[in-house]
Amino acid sequence: MRKKIVAGNWKMNKTPKEALALIEELKPLVKDADSDVVFCVPAIDIIPAVEATKGTNIAIGAQNMYFEDNGAFTGEISAPMLKDAGVQYVILGHSERRQYFNETDEAVNKKVKKAFEYDLIPIVCVGETLQQREQGITIDWVRMQVKKAFMDVNKEDAVKVIVAYEPIWAIGTGKTATVEQADEVCNAIRKCLFELYGEEAAYSIRIQYGGSVNGKNAAELFSKPDIDGGLVGGASLKADFASIVNWDK
Ligand code: PEP
Repeated sequence: MRKKIVAGNWKMNKTPKEALALIEELKPLVKDADSDVVFCVPAIDIIPAVEATKGTNIAIGAQNMYFEDNGAFTGEISAPMLKDAGVQYVILGHSERRQYFNETDEAVNKKVKKAFEYDLIPIVCVGETLQQREQGITIDWVRMQVKKAFMDVNKEDAVKVIVAYEPIWAIGTGKTATVEQADEVCNAIRKCLFELYGEEAAYSIRIQYGGSVNGKNAAELFSKPDIDGGLVGGASLKADFASIVNWDK
């Protein structure tokens, strides 16, 4: 049985002081969660966030990293740096990084492989644009993104990946995919993973839904057997995030 996982993506929000205030507010509210709980915080908040969540059920994630260990890559952060700072998860290939920072499927794949070298768990984001959905190519597109992200990743590592299905048209727009739409694509992703790695691995890999998840729609979405929790942007910045984490209570 896969354990659900609810991750907050804070994006470029919260100074270190604000991050600590939100963590202190949320700690008691999420402590009895049945799901795994992850806060993916801005790079500058990582060290205080790791410190503030020690001994709690909250794991800290990063929102991106580079695929080299070190060197002349001004402004980047590496997997060994994240590992040393106490990070456990890293979001890779978020649509905002693909859209605004030209992140390619090839770069995402290199980052996924680098994450495993340092025992970081990648949360790999995939999803279609509104135009692709209207053209009827959602499944083909998402399958391609999954195949490229998992290229040359062995089965032992693949089972640790979290895939986040995030239709781009639903991110930060208040438009949530219907439960049927989310379930259909999460199911197609699992089929694709089955083709790549076989049944046991495909049924071990956790697949989240992301896109305007909130306290009202989380329970319906996360109750679907192929949806193993959520990646949550806007709604993770408030104490109300606890109602998403506690979706099953
Ligand atoms: C996200 O940032 O991954 C996301 C899903 O954002 P939102 O919940 O705000 O749509």
